[in-house]
Amino acid sequence: MQGVGFRPFICRLATEHGLTGEVGNRTNGVSILVRGDLKAVDRFSNEILEKAPPASRVKSIEIVPRPVGNYDTFFISGSMDTAGSVTEVSPDIAVCDECLEDLSSDRGRIGYPFINCTNCGPRFTITESLPYDRPNTSMKHFEMCPKCSAEYHDIEDRRFHAQPVACNSCGPELAYSDGREDLTGTETILPRISQEISSGRSVAIKGLGGYFLMCDALNDQAVSELRKRKQRDSKPFAVMFRDMTEVRKYCFTTVREEDELISWRRPVVILRMKVPLAMAVNNGLGTAGAMLPYMPLHYLLFRSLETPVIVLTSGNLSDEPIITRDDEAIARLMPVAGSVVSYNREICNRTDDSVVKIIGKDIAVIRRSRGYVPGPVDLDFPVEGLLAMGAEQKSTFCIGKGSQAILSQHIGDLKNPAACDFYGESLERFSNLFSFSPGCLACDMHPDYFSTGYAERLSSELGVKLIRVQHHHAHIVSCMAEHGLDEKVIGISLDGTGYGTDGRIWGGEFMIADPVSFSRFAHFDYVPVPGGDAAVAEPWRMAYSYLVKYFGPDFDFDSIPSLKRIDKGKKEVVKVMILNGINSPLTSGAGRLFDAVSAILGLCTHSSFDSEAPMRLESAIDHAADESYPFTPGQTIGFEGTFSGILEDLRRGEDIAAISARFHNTIAEIILHIAMMIREMHTLNRVVLSGGVFQNGYLLERSFSRLESEGFKAFTNHLVPANDGGISLGQLIVAAKQNELCV
Ligand code: ZN
Ligand code: FE
Repeated sequence: MQGVGFRPFICRLATEHGLTGEVGNRTNGVSILVRGDLKAVDRFSNEILEKAPPASRVKSIEIVPRPVGNYDTFFISGSMDTAGSVTEVSPDIAVCDECLEDLSSDRGRIGYPFINCTNCGPRFTITESLPYDRPNTSMKHFEMCPKCSAEYHDIEDRRFHAQPVACNSCGPELAYSDGREDLTGTETILPRISQEISSGRSVAIKGLGGYFLMCDALNDQAVSELRKRKQRDSKPFAVMFRDMTEVRKYCFTTVREEDELISWRRPVVILRMKVPLAMAVNNGLGTAGAMLPYMPLHYLLFRSLETPVIVLTSGNLSDEPIITRDDEAIARLMPVAGSVVSYNREICNRTDDSVVKIIGKDIAVIRRSRGYVPGPVDLDFPVEGLLAMGAEQKSTFCIGKGSQAILSQHIGDLKNPAACDFYGESLERFSNLFSFSPGCLACDMHPDYFSTGYAERLSSELGVKLIRVQHHHAHIVSCMAEHGLDEKVIGISLDGTGYGTDGRIWGGEFMIADPVSFSRFAHFDYVPVPGGDAAVAEPWRMAYSYLVKYFGPDFDFDSIPSLKRIDKGKKEVVKVMILNGINSPLTSGAGRLFDAVSAILGLCTHSSFDSEAPMRLESAIDHAADESYPFTPGQTIGFEGTFSGILEDLRRGEDIAAISARFHNTIAEIILHIAMMIREMHTLNRVVLSGGVFQNGYLLERSFSRLESEGFKAFTNHLVPANDGGISLGQLIVAAKQNELCV
C-alpha cells in the first residue's frame, strides 16, 4: 500500500542489519533485493513482520536466493510498474506516538495541529490522484520549508517521503470565525474554542474527512440544543474522550474493545455505558459510540478543554452527507454551531468516522469509512473491471481492481438527494483515482432503488452488461467472499428489507447459496406492513400486524399496556388497512418482527431513528437466559407460539429483560433448526450469517454457540458491514462468478 512508510521502513531495517540492496514497488507487492551475510538476512526478514508499520499489510513474504549485483548502500528504487498497477491508497492513519511527542518537543512543530510522519496522518482524504505523491494531494499548495524538505529527503528520518509533511512555518493553518470576528493562530484559537464549549455552545470543526459539530457531552442543555439545531431526531451522538482513563470512567471496556479504540484506524466503538453522559447524547440507550482523539488537533484541543468528553458528530443537517467545503461550512454550519474552526487544506475525499462493535472477540464493522477506505478486500480470483452499485440505505459501491474489491466509503441513505449527489461524486472520484472504467455492472433487484436506476443508465450509456443480484444473496456472498468460501453453504440472511424474486419484501431468509446462485429454502412468515415506510417509523403497527395474523381481528389489543396508549382512531385505521390489504405490502423481514416484539414489550412503539426498536430490544437484556418460545418450523416459519409465549409472560408480569432474552433465543433456535433441516437434506455444514440483524450482539453470539454446539461451522462479516453497507461486495462477487461461467 502506498503512503504507509513501508519502503522507508525496509530501508532503515536493512541498513540496521548491515545489508545493501534496494526496495521497490512491483505490480503485485514490494520487491526487496538484499546482499549480505545469511544470518543477517534471516534476522532482517524475521523483523519485517514483527516491526512493520501499523498501517501496512504484509500478507506473505517469499524468500528466494539469487545472485545479486554489487551495492554500496541500501536504497529505494523508483516504482517499476509498467501499468501503474500499484494502486492501493492508504486509508487515513491516526497520529502516532512519536509525532505526539514531537508536538511538545520538535523545533518548528511544537503545538502544530497538523503534525504527521510516514507512519501517520491524512492519506485518502487528501489524495486527488495517483501515484500518491505530494503534487497529487491537496498538500501541493504548501511549499516545504528547508527543515521539512531536509527531513522529507533524509532516508534516516521518520518523515522521509511523508507526503503531507508540514510544520508551523510552512503547513496548513487553523482559522476561526464566528461571523463577527476572525481569529488566526493556534494559541489564540484553542482557548477560544474551549471557552465556547465551556459556556455550553457548539463549535463546527474541520476534521480529516469533513466538518464535525462538537459540544460538551456532559452538558445536557448544550447537547439538546445541538440536536435541535442540527435537526437530528434522537439517534445517538458519537463522543470523543480525552484518553482511555476517561473512557473507562464512563464505559465498560474489554481488552479487545480498548485495542480497537486505540488502533491506528481509531474508529467509533460501541460500548456499554457505566456512568451516563448528558441524557441527550443517547437518550437513555445502554450504549454509546466512543472514540479517542485521532488528529493532533484533537489532542491539542483536549489540553485546553475543561470537559474530558465531547460530542463529535458529523457536520451536516439531518441525514445529509458530511460537509467538506469551507464555504459550505460557513454558510450552513455557522447557524447551527455559532462558530467554525477551519484550516486551509482541502478535503479531497469525504469520509465520516467509522463505527465498529466488538461481538464476542470479533469485530463487526457497522459503518466503514475513515481509517478503512479505500483499503481493499483481497480475493483469490479476478474481479477487474466490475462495478457493483450497492443497495439504498447505508449505501456503498464497490469496484474491482485485479483480484481486489475496493469499497467506497459509507455514503448514506439514497432516498436523500444530497446523498445521491455524494454517490455520483464519489463514483467519479474512485474512477479517476483508480483509473477505473467498468466493463460490467451489478446492482440490486429492487426496481426503485436510486442505485438500480444509476446502474441502468450507466449500463446503456457504456453499453456494458448489467447483472441484477438478489439482496439477501448479496448479503450471504459478501460474507463468503471475506472467508474465501466458494462452495454451497447454508445462507441465513436476516435484515429489515430487500427485494425478493417474488416481488415481495424479504428479510427472514434461509437459503442454499453459492457465489453464483441461490435457492430459497425457508423464510419467515409473510405479514402485512400497514402503511409501508410509516410502519417502519411506528413499530406498534407491526405489533398489530402480527397479532391480527395469529390471533384474529378480535384480539384484545388494549390488554397490552403499550398498545393501549396508542391513539384509538389510528389503531382502527391500521386494523382496517391490515384486514383489507390497503397500502400493506407483505414482508418476511426479520427487522419488522423485532419491531413488533419491541413495541409489545413497551420498549419502542415509535421509532425516531433507524433500528431503534431492535436496538432497545437487545439492550433490554441484562443477563443471558436459556429458555426460548415455541415456533412453527417449515418452509414458512410461523411465530404464533412465540407471540403466545411472550403475551403469557407479559401477563404473568415476567420482567422485560427475560422476555427479550427468550425471544432472541427463539430466533437462534430457528436458525439452528432450519440449518439442521438443510444439513439433513443436503449434507451442508457451513452456515453463513449476514444481514443487519446480525449486528445484534446477543443474537449473533447465541446463534454461533448453538450452531457450533451441533457441529456446524458458522461465519459472519468482519471486514465489511453485515448491514446493507456490505451489499456491494456481495454483488461484485456474484457478477464475477456469473461472468466466469459465461466465458
Ligand atoms: Zn507520526
Ligand atoms: Fe439488507
